[in-house]
Amino acid sequence: MGQTVTLTGMVLLAAPIGDYDKRLVLLTKERGKITAFAKGSRRQNSPLLAAANPFSFGAFTCFEGRTSYNLMQAEISNYFSGLSQDYEAAYYGFYFMEIADYYARENNDEAEMLRLLYATLRALMNAHIPNELIRYIFEWKSMVISGEYPQMFCCTGCGVQEDLRAFVPAGDGLVCKNCLSGSKGAVLLLESTIYTYQYIASSTIEKLYSFTVSEDVLREMKRLQSRLCKIYMDKQFKSLDILESIVT
Ligand SMILES: [Zn+2]
Repeated sequence: MGQTVTLTGMVLLAAPIGDYDKRLVLLTKERGKITAFAKGSRRQNSPLLAAANPFSFGAFTCFEGRTSYNLMQAEISNYFSGLSQDYEAAYYGFYFMEIADYYARENNDEAEMLRLLYATLRALMNAHIPNELIRYIFEWKSMVISGEYPQMFCCTGCGVQEDLRAFVPAGDGLVCKNCLSGSKGAVLLLESTIYTYQYIASSTIEKLYSFTVSEDVLREMKRLQSRLCKIYMDKQFKSLDILESIVT
């Protein structure tokens, strides 16, 4: 016998099914990532019409069957509707949803990823932080939360924490000035770029979007993130292709 459960979460993806239904991917605090069917949610008079869309955050009451969830009712506390009026910000949002979908697992504790997504969408609606910086912060923090990321706090050659100079792909992290010579493919980094990476890795989610960086640091983050995403995320994100065609 199935049962009804109420889960706190966010809609990551919503795909149309048949004439009137949707298949949702939800990131939830209690069950990690789940798939839920929202029957009739594309009908104009459906109570699920507004809820069954990406970015909707709130309480989702589902009937838990043997193999899938059916969404019965939703109480949405934040639709992030500001994103629907800003094409570029919305595509950043879709990209973040796709990354969360990539990392999250069913029945895994995804509470921190959910909090990160919520804070990141709020930051997208805040004009004071450049969207590009939000992207690099989100990419790097989600790598850290997933546990697959390079060593950014000490030299991978000798272990010192000072005079760190570059990221070395083959070494899986930073090297210091003494270990730099002979390191193949080293990406040289400013001290303030390294500090920024350390700050993001160790910061609470609440303090993550409380700073901006110089143009030099932003340029280095762009270069480094492109390398890190290739090495540590084994996926070509569809929404990133669209986003890059919009912003460049
Ligand atoms: Zn060293």
